[in-house]
Amino acid sequence: MITTDGFCKKEYGEKLYRLSFNAHMGCPNRGGPVAVSSGRGCIFCSEGGSGEFAVDITGDTDHDIKLAIDKVSKKFKGRHYIAYFQAYSNTYAPVDELRKLYMDFVNRDEIAVLAIATRPDCLDEDKYVLLEELNRIKPVWVELGLQTVKPESVSYIRRGYDNEAYDRAVRRLYSMGIHTITHVILYLPGETKQDMLNTVRHIAKLAAVNGKYHSAGIKFSMLNVLKGTDLYDEYTKAPFYLPELEEYGDTLNECLNLLPENIVVHRLCSDPPKKLLVAPSWVADKKRVHNYLNELIDPPEDYYVYIIRCNDNTLYTGVARNVDKRFREHQNGRGAKYTRSHHPVEIVYTEKVRGKGRALKREYEIKQLSRSQKLDLIKKRKYETGAE
Ligand code: SF4
Repeated sequence: MITTDGFCKKEYGEKLYRLSFNAHMGCPNRGGPVAVSSGRGCIFCSEGGSGEFAVDITGDTDHDIKLAIDKVSKKFKGRHYIAYFQAYSNTYAPVDELRKLYMDFVNRDEIAVLAIATRPDCLDEDKYVLLEELNRIKPVWVELGLQTVKPESVSYIRRGYDNEAYDRAVRRLYSMGIHTITHVILYLPGETKQDMLNTVRHIAKLAAVNGKYHSAGIKFSMLNVLKGTDLYDEYTKAPFYLPELEEYGDTLNECLNLLPENIVVHRLCSDPPKKLLVAPSWVADKKRVHNYLNELIDPPEDYYVYIIRCNDNTLYTGVARNVDKRFREHQNGRGAKYTRSHHPVEIVYTEKVRGKGRALKREYEIKQLSRSQKLDLIKKRKYETGAE
């Protein structure tokens, strides 16, 4: 599976971080010409149009970029960023206005990629020409909220355009060499697992032409019920089924297995604003969701934290994938400096830990214990040494 970081390192030579912006362009599905159901937009869409964490565009680009960089500076120390126009539909404006705005961003040194979230029905010939122009200056990513291809769900969520409009837009963007990212929502009410897998199959099929794959990406979301949405009203009247994290993970895994290796997976699960989230509650625990899904998809290897008794009765603590092999290395003087001068006699303790990071943390914890605490630990634990 290719992640955003892996893709950015391969394509642009470094990890990039998203700076989210809200250009307040609105959305045709929320009061414009294609508005359905009283112009209230997609049934799950919050007041902020999915841009609750975004920095408002003020017209002072230096200021806006600086503010966005300040917001992410605790998490990211790189020098280049993805300018992500996230909220609402970011090609829903006259093309001259779009050109002025986006040219200003792509020409900044700190911006490496311009990412534009929009709808297929907000792209016309003039806008494709503009995207092509921008893409010649800096890479442009276009994000489209397909969510599902099941006709009943398309009408339930009030997406406001048909699957063919998505297909046409995607083909055109691929032909222009634009990295095109499709958003998918899992567990829409009434969808079976087969329905969700069909949506992913549709995206994978479109990305393939004559055995080659276009530059395609995908973002997965768990359906979130957010306060202030019509989905929230429905859910409070008659709660519909939402899975636990474990079930979501299993379905996500099946979806990922349908994707060709070169489709970039930009997101495994949604990260909604906590103050708006009603259900499912597990989505709010970002760290747990991140760890669980990443371990499910790429299970960490088992490591062993071990304690060796040396010939002067001192105890040495270390970490290895294979403790027996490591013990022989210690005995032959090819292990640690300590065991070269304190000859190892026997392995007295092992503890299996998933993942190298956790194993190193556990090794450090044990090293902080007093000798009598270590002896207590040895007394209590059984012995595992791993496979050859
Ligand atoms: S297209 Fe996006 S911004 Fe518009 S109503 Fe749907 S989710 Fe909201």
